[in-house]
Amino acid sequence: MFDGIIIGGGAAGMTAAIRAASLGAKVLLLERGPRAGRKLLLTGGGRCNITVDRDATSFVADCGPSARFLHNALGRFDPVATRAWFRELGVPTLREADGRCFPASGRALDVLRALEAAVQRWHVEVRYESRVTTIRPVRGGLQVVAGNAVLEAGRVVLATGGRSVPATGSSGDGYDLAAALGHRIVPPRPGEVPLVAHPAWLRELSGVGIEDVVGRFRQGKRAVEVRGSLLFTHFGLSGPVALEGSRGIVRWLDDGPVDLAVDLVPGRSLADVDGDLAAAASREGTRHLKSLLRAFVPERLAQRLAILALPDGDGPVARLPAARRKAAAALLKGLPLKVTGTRGYDEAVVTLGGVDTSQVHPGTMESRLVPGLLFAGEVLDVDGPRGGYNLQIAWSTGYAAGTQVASGVAGTGRAPQR
Ligand SMILES: Cc1cc2nc3c(=O)[nH]c(=O)nc-3n(C[C@H](O)[C@H](O)[C@H](O)COP(=O)(O)OP(=O)(O)OC[C@H]3O[C@@H](n4cnc5c(N)ncnc54)[C@H](O)[C@@H]3O)c2cc1C
Repeated sequence: MFDGIIIGGGAAGMTAAIRAASLGAKVLLLERGPRAGRKLLLTGGGRCNITVDRDATSFVADCGPSARFLHNALGRFDPVATRAWFRELGVPTLREADGRCFPASGRALDVLRALEAAVQRWHVEVRYESRVTTIRPVRGGLQVVAGNAVLEAGRVVLATGGRSVPATGSSGDGYDLAAALGHRIVPPRPGEVPLVAHPAWLRELSGVGIEDVVGRFRQGKRAVEVRGSLLFTHFGLSGPVALEGSRGIVRWLDDGPVDLAVDLVPGRSLADVDGDLAAAASREGTRHLKSLLRAFVPERLAQRLAILALPDGDGPVARLPAARRKAAAALLKGLPLKVTGTRGYDEAVVTLGGVDTSQVHPGTMESRLVPGLLFAGEVLDVDGPRGGYNLQIAWSTGYAAGTQVASGVAGTGRAPQR
């Protein structure tokens, strides 16, 4: 009998296992894959954006309403504590100007190796290729079934992740396991995911990127605005504006396409942009609209805007009617696109939705329905924007769950291996 069985060897599960074992609990970690932390290796483009330098209040505010649940866990294990913990584990971190923190080595592999070393040092028993298919309450705890193994523990941590990038092992098992025990699952959706968008001419722009735009997403009365860079792709849109926007709009897509107006010159008003075009037209009347638009946007996009503004063909701007020039300015200030879908879980950084947090104690991560069952990480209905938030959610909730696993345990674990 274990004090705790941790299901899932990702960021949250390993943190819970290390924390519980370091407090003296006898811990078993079950991972369905051949090794732990496969998703961690992909994080931050291989650099692992471990956390973000924000206090708990601004962290929660940045994440949005569902993150209020995190206040308690973040209060006990915030980004400062996380960085100190990683320093102890042998992974000093560096803060970039925007607050994002990375391992000083710039290698996600070092983060994973440090966690694996701590798992070993604290004598956590690890079983790979152990996919949990059933959890059921028994006297004194919970029973867990993984293949032929039937195991028991006083507490069980469900840290199976969401559905994003299922090749890393997170294919949504945790939702089924939690639902089978009566938990409500907020319907999962891919988040921070590239967007499928129209019209079809967008495909011609594949590879064009713009550093600073404002994307205004709208469906009926609902609206979301995101500023940052945008990348046109062969399927539609990627880059921070698309990824961050997707968190806000992915559920709207259930009700149909979402309008997106891209402000390509966010620092300027419509009148200023039109004024600039008018001045350029009177100065350089022999040039074509496309070449004037080139002052605002990359060439291929300028060409497309000229086609949209002048469906009958481009020509010397001296002969351009004011209405056509104004149409071009309006396109620069709000290129109208339609978002019709996403690229799905294979390309999603995070999964929105998950175990309804109103059924989970925010201090301990323990289920309000099933005593001894705890949750950590992305399996919960909490998520944050890009930039270190989602891993911090995994560290904080994993730490809280691990602490709870060890609560009331009379130090059955062993001293760390040196
Ligand atoms: C490409 C990419 C880049 C990212 N970059 C960043 C970043 O730089 N910073 C950041 O903050 N966030 C980043 N994220 C998000 C972040 O990686 C996740 O939110 C975080 O790893 C979630 O941790 P987790 O432990 O909850 O889940 P996971 O890391 O998904 O781990 C879950 C584990 O559970 C195992 N498992 C699943 N089902 C079972 C079962 N039935 N039995 C046993 N084991 C099971 C899986 O095999 C997996 O190992 C990125 C995500 C992606 C996809």
